[in-house]
Amino acid sequence: MMIDLSHVRVMVLDDEPFMLKLLARILGNLGLHQVTLCDSGQAALAALDAQEMVSDLILCDLNMPTMDGVQFVRQLVDRQYQGGLILVSGEDDRLLQTVEKLVRAHRITLLGSLGKPVSPDALATLISQWIQLQPAHLPKAAKTYHAEDLALAINDSKLVNHYQPKVAVATGQVVGVETLVRWEHSDDGLVYPDRFIRLAEKHGLIDELTRNVLANAFRQTKSWRRAGLGFRVAVNVSMDCLASLDFPDFVMDLASTVGIAPADIVLEITESRQISDIRFVLDSLARLSLMRFGLSIDDFGTGYSTLAQLRDIPFDELKIDQSFVHRAWTNKTLRALYDTSLGLAKQLDIDAVAEGVEDRQDWDFLRHTGCKLAQGYFISRPMHFDELPGWLEEWQERVPDLLSTRL
Ligand code: C2E
Ligand code: CA
Ligand code: CA
Repeated sequence: MMIDLSHVRVMVLDDEPFMLKLLARILGNLGLHQVTLCDSGQAALAALDAQEMVSDLILCDLNMPTMDGVQFVRQLVDRQYQGGLILVSGEDDRLLQTVEKLVRAHRITLLGSLGKPVSPDALATLISQWIQLQPAHLPKAAKTYHAEDLALAINDSKLVNHYQPKVAVATGQVVGVETLVRWEHSDDGLVYPDRFIRLAEKHGLIDELTRNVLANAFRQTKSWRRAGLGFRVAVNVSMDCLASLDFPDFVMDLASTVGIAPADIVLEITESRQISDIRFVLDSLARLSLMRFGLSIDDFGTGYSTLAQLRDIPFDELKIDQSFVHRAWTNKTLRALYDTSLGLAKQLDIDAVAEGVEDRQDWDFLRHTGCKLAQGYFISRPMHFDELPGWLEEWQERVPDLLSTRL
C-alpha cells in the first residue's frame, strides 16, 4: 500500500555532514520531504523548541561529540516528546540494545534501530510499519497545558505534595521522604510533574511553584517532627531557581518562620536544561550548604551532571538515575553504569541513593552491591501525607523478610 508521507515532519541528527545528506536523500526517495537536519543535540533541541515540538519522527545518531544520543533522549523526555524515534549507530549491537531499553523505559516510541551504513530498505520498513500503526496515519499530540492555567493553579493552591520514602538498605530504616508535586486538575484529575515543570521553567513560573512546594513541605516536616518522626524531607529544586541570588535567603527565612532546622531538609538539584551563568548557581549552592541544608545531585549519569560539578559543590548525596538501577542485576551495561555511579559516591564519601527499585531482585541487588539508600515503587509509590502512617506500619512488617536473604 502506498501511503502519503508528505505531511510527516522528520528531524535527522548526526554529527557527520555526509550522513545527514545521505539520510536526507534516502528520506526524500521515500516521499518524506519535511526534513530538518541538525549536526548536534544542541542544534536539534533549539530547533524543536523553536517549532514548539512538531517533529513527528527523529532519526538520532548515538555517538556524537558534544551531546551523545543518550543525553539527547533525556532531553526529549524532559520536553514530553510524543513522536517516534529511530536510533542510528555504528556502535556494536550490545550497546544499541541497552540504549533501546533506556529509550523504552522513558516511554518514547522507538521504531527500531539501524546500523551504519544505513540500508534504505530497512529504513523504509521501519517507517511504514510505524505509519500504519498511527490512527489516521498521524501521531496525535498529548494534551498540553497553558502557562496561564498553571499560574492560576499555583495561586489557587491546586498543587499538592506527595511523598516517597527513602530507606536504608542495610536496616530498612526510613531515613527520608522525597517531595513530588502533583497538580489536582479539575478536569484531568492528578497531573504529574513531567507535564508541567518544564512549562513552569519556560514561562518564569518555576520560582513561584518551588516556593509553594517548599512552604508546604516545610509545614509538613514540622508536623512530622511534632509526631516524633525524625526523617529528612527532600525537595526538588531546578537550576533556574538557584540562578536567582535571593533564593538561599528565601529558603532560610521560610525554615525559620516555620520552625524547622536546615539539616531537616535535603534539596535535590535537577538539571533540566543548560544554565547560562553557572556562577550564580554555584554561589547559591555554596550558601545553602553553609546554612546546613543537605544537597543532593539528582538523576546522576543523565543530563549534564558532570564530575566537575561534584568537585566544586559540597553535595551530601548522589541519586543514581532509575534507568541505571532497575534490572541492572541482569544487564551488563546498566550494571557498569550503576557501578561507576556507586563507586564515585563511595570515593567522594557521600551517600548513594538508588532510584527506581521496582522489585525484589532490584532490592537484593542493592544489598549485594552495598548501596546505602533505596527508593522506588517496590518500597512505596509516592503518597499523600495522610497515607504515610499506614505505610510505615506495613513497611515495618515487611522489613524482616527483606533483610532475610543471606548476602
Ligand atoms: P525525580 O526527582 O527523578 O523523581 C523520581 C520520579 O520517579 C518520580 O516521578 C517518581 O514518582 C518516580 N518513581 C519513583 N519510584 C519509581 C520506580 O520504582 N520506578 C519508576 N519507573 N519511577 C519511579 P514524578 O513524581 O512523576 O516526578 C517526575 C520528575 O518531576 C521528578 O523526577 C522531578 O525531577 C520533577 N519534580 C517533581 N516535583 C518537583 C518539584 O517540586 N520541583 C521541581 N523543580 N521538579 C519536580
Ligand atoms: Ca528528585
Ligand atoms: Ca531522579
